[in-house]
Amino acid sequence: MIVSVVGILLLAYLAVVQRHTILVPLTTPGEEPPLLDVAAQVPDGTPAGDGYYVVVALDGQTFAIAEPRYWARNFNYLIMGTERAIMFDAGAGHEDIRPVVDALTDLPITFLPSHFHYDHVGREGAFDHVAVVDLPHVRKQANGNALELTWEQHLGSAEGLEIPTLMVDEWIAPGETIDLGGRTLSLLYTPGHTDNSVSLYDAERKVMFSGDFVTGNLAGAIAPTASLGDYLQSAKKVLRSTDAATIIRGAHGSESGGIPTNDHSDVRDLRDTLIAIRDRKLEGTGTFPITYVINDKMILVAEPRWLQDWTPTYPDEK
Ligand SMILES: [Zn+2]
Repeated sequence: MIVSVVGILLLAYLAVVQRHTILVPLTTPGEEPPLLDVAAQVPDGTPAGDGYYVVVALDGQTFAIAEPRYWARNFNYLIMGTERAIMFDAGAGHEDIRPVVDALTDLPITFLPSHFHYDHVGREGAFDHVAVVDLPHVRKQANGNALELTWEQHLGSAEGLEIPTLMVDEWIAPGETIDLGGRTLSLLYTPGHTDNSVSLYDAERKVMFSGDFVTGNLAGAIAPTASLGDYLQSAKKVLRSTDAATIIRGAHGSESGGIPTNDHSDVRDLRDTLIAIRDRKLEGTGTFPITYVINDKMILVAEPRWLQDWTPTYPDEK
């Protein structure tokens, strides 16, 4: 009797620890998903690359490369200076993004993923020059410059994708400035969605590219290594590191087809929501995941309270 109770508890424990390994195959196709029948109309967009991609010029040196027929409606950003360009995210890589990028610039391109999820790291080897955030736990994982991602970091089995090895040319420390020639970006370490998530801030243009940290109507904290403690610390960091007039460009659009855009005040609302959840002043709805309302346009999707992690991966120095 005792043994079977222990056995059940052990199984329950394993099910909790392995919840992502169990949930991902249950909730995803396991192969390349069919394209959406009706692609959202991307305002001011021009079809590119056999019509799968749609390019929007945000200004002469900044382009959003949208995937309106992909279920996750990704927006990838080509950010150019006079000397070099950053490709911030490259979709899931089912379709080749490289010809689209090459048609937009001759500059040398550095690929920098906002985080390591398969729908951001693109096709393995698509870009010759790869930059990755320099964090102790990511460095430790690399063999020289070969960074083999883990299943938890990549999750590509959701769509039948192999786990890639990133050949890293450049390790960029949190807070470091990236000089593109006449334009600088600072790399903000913004974990929460995952523990390797980063944003890029262009202080002169007052634009932040946020990956999945906040993207349109969503802040998502249910993937492996998601942490509400990280989310709160990152929200505070973004608020103190960026101008209040900053426009935030996220990585996933909606049915409306527009570029996922948030204001500085959305990050303030996210911070306040997180504090209210932490202090048990706000309850969400649902059982798994839990949905918390941030404001009239945004929700935070998180795990139930007993699985929430409030300890930052790298606590800010006091
Ligand atoms: Zn993600």
